[in-house]
Amino acid sequence: MPTVQEIQKEHLNNAAQYVNDVFEKVKLRNQGESEFHQAVKEVFDSLIPILAQDPKYIQQNILERLVEPERVISFRVPWVDDKGIVQVNRGFRVQYNSAIGPYKGGLRFHPSVNASIIKFLGFEQIFKNSLTGQPIGGGKGGADFDPKGKSDQEIMRFCQSFMTELAKYIDPDTDVPAGDIGVGAREIGYLFGQYKRIRGGYPAGVLTGKGLGYGGSLARTEATGYGTVYFVQEMLKDKGDSFEGKKVIISGSGNVSIYAIEKAQELGATVVACSDSNGYIYDERGINLATVKQIKEIDRKRISEYLTYHPEAEYHEGCSNIWLIPCDIALPCATQNEIDETSAKLLVANGVKAIGEGANMPSTLEAMDIFLANGVLFGPAKAANAGGVAVSALEMSQNSMRLSWTFEEVDAKLHEIMKNIYRSSVAAAEQYGKSGNLVVGSNIAGFKKVADAMIAHGVI
Ligand code: NAP
Repeated sequence: MPTVQEIQKEHLNNAAQYVNDVFEKVKLRNQGESEFHQAVKEVFDSLIPILAQDPKYIQQNILERLVEPERVISFRVPWVDDKGIVQVNRGFRVQYNSAIGPYKGGLRFHPSVNASIIKFLGFEQIFKNSLTGQPIGGGKGGADFDPKGKSDQEIMRFCQSFMTELAKYIDPDTDVPAGDIGVGAREIGYLFGQYKRIRGGYPAGVLTGKGLGYGGSLARTEATGYGTVYFVQEMLKDKGDSFEGKKVIISGSGNVSIYAIEKAQELGATVVACSDSNGYIYDERGINLATVKQIKEIDRKRISEYLTYHPEAEYHEGCSNIWLIPCDIALPCATQNEIDETSAKLLVANGVKAIGEGANMPSTLEAMDIFLANGVLFGPAKAANAGGVAVSALEMSQNSMRLSWTFEEVDAKLHEIMKNIYRSSVAAAEQYGKSGNLVVGSNIAGFKKVADAMIAHGVI
């Protein structure tokens, strides 16, 4: 008779073998898509304990079903620039999984956008959206369009052309996009205008992140950055610690970064550095946020301009060097794979206590392992940056009810959702024998609800 331990070990081996087999198929079917492989590997490896405990997931071949998007749409986006020259970009929408609700996830406009990037983001979005506790499925989209240096008219023409095609596939009950890198309130405004013109009526619920005057939600702009800080606050609180008096580095200077800086400062931290894709600024007295907002939200200029207002600060070329600065808390809020193994080792050597991923997949798998192995509190992206999509879902609710909640009401709901995400990630990690590992905890907690719904719906 095998012992209980032997049986458990056999189940774990079977689960690991299953994960490995499906992952090999994923690599074969999606060749050259390295970011997508990375995101899948992280999730698959953390699911081994739950797959080992509950045989139905393997029997139902849930991973192979989950990793294949329900639909991938790729389309031509032709537009005319200010010189009258015809330009062509490639647009995408991945409608990944609708087991628990309509597809939901942002649009990214950045020259690096390709199928791999959109699929990694869409895949992660499934688990993130499930973690929020709201009824939203996973999706993502975008284009390899570079908004930098484009005139307002060019941005508008691009958005109109993009939406002319995308409008065929989305509506408030099917798929509800929002912003992401390169897509803020201005772009959402143009996209919404074109959708409304094509479809008619007033389909407010088709996009989130809208302006406050036409169906947007208060606190949506702040949600991702504030949410990331709320999540890290919970991790610190469990250790009897807080943001008060901490030295913080926040990469990027876009939507997520700006509001992470705002909340961290409000909680008593000194944010000493932020960046853009060219370089970073270091201001040891603490970043002046009003200046960063002026440069990035209003003037749409480079972060190096900060020195024009504060000549005593420093500017350094090369955004990845921001992690050279010693800090207590690091919040990567710019883009994927911005913290590699070397940067992670540096952060640990310099005594970092907590990491909160405001961006999607900002740490490489190797970097993540280094943080976990060294006891750094680690808030993974799916959990730590879920505040944005959570408030997007609250925007959908307000649009359906045709009312608007106050800033304080939305912020309080956001805060509660972030606490719940933290608690459910901690609980899942504990339940599956990986206490304290929030990567495993958040992946399992997000997975379970979606996988159970898929099984309930039958093989579809
Ligand atoms: P954003 O407003 O466009 O800002 C992006 C920031 O990151 C900018 O400072 C940008 O610098 C920098 N950046 C972009 N690509 C980079 C690259 N390849 N290398 C170095 N720096 C780069 O975008 P965001 O909405 O803040 O999004 C930032 C991250 O948060 C992304 O990973 C996004 O997926 C994630 N996220 C966003 C939301 C949301 O609600 N917006 C929600 C969840 C997760 P430049 O100005 O030089 O390009």
